[in-house]
Amino acid sequence: MGIVADSRRESVAPSPTDRSAVDGLSFGKALRVLVIEDEPGIVDFVCRGLEAEGFAVEAAMDGIEGERLALRGSFDAIVLDLMLPRRGGLEILQSIRRAMPNVPVIVLSARGEIEDRVQGLDAGAMDYLVKPFSMAELVARVRAHLRVIAQTSASTLSVEDIEVDLLTRTVHRSGQAVTLSRTEFELLVHLMRHHGRAVSREQILSSVWSYEHDPGTNVVDVYVGYLRRKLDRPGAPAPIFTVRAVGYRLGSSS
Ligand code: CA
Repeated sequence: MGIVADSRRESVAPSPTDRSAVDGLSFGKALRVLVIEDEPGIVDFVCRGLEAEGFAVEAAMDGIEGERLALRGSFDAIVLDLMLPRRGGLEILQSIRRAMPNVPVIVLSARGEIEDRVQGLDAGAMDYLVKPFSMAELVARVRAHLRVIAQTSASTLSVEDIEVDLLTRTVHRSGQAVTLSRTEFELLVHLMRHHGRAVSREQILSSVWSYEHDPGTNVVDVYVGYLRRKLDRPGAPAPIFTVRAVGYRLGSSS
């Protein structure tokens, strides 16, 4: 395996205390990232790369230690390898999800098959990077997910030209009001909170419909169709993309 080197690491980085790694989220203190990975080369590469970007990083090199640290609950984001000694990454992911539904977990894996990606996303990964990956991409994704978390505590969401006010439950596209049903609104909010990445139909079903649906149902596809039609503008189709074998993505991929 190989790691793509990132020239940005060559530049002199500010210290963790004099800049916020994600605007609007850290208030003068470094955001904390836990790295659970057993290959020393990757641990070193990832830790140094994240530290250079202003994050405070801790690493665990086996599954049991990683899970123990993760469940301490003091991290803003977790980078998790799947193939680990003593305890597998998917099991760790499931226990993190039970204890802390909102902490972003970015899975690193050598396995890039589509079913592995879906399994990882379904187990609660917010993102999935296949080795070899670039440090720039990992940092960008950690930032993007932390920004989403910052946004979830705000009362408005905006992606491209779509704006949602969660208090008044109003939606605008390019400044024009869009009238949505309750379910369409919840679906749009879910897609906006995960914008830029693929969301599986199962995730949408459990989040928007709040119960386990017959997996054969096409209710998600039907409602995405309604939403697309209502958000369409002449010359500007709704930015909801179908992601083959997974589900849907709102907005361009980050
Ligand atoms: Ca490994």
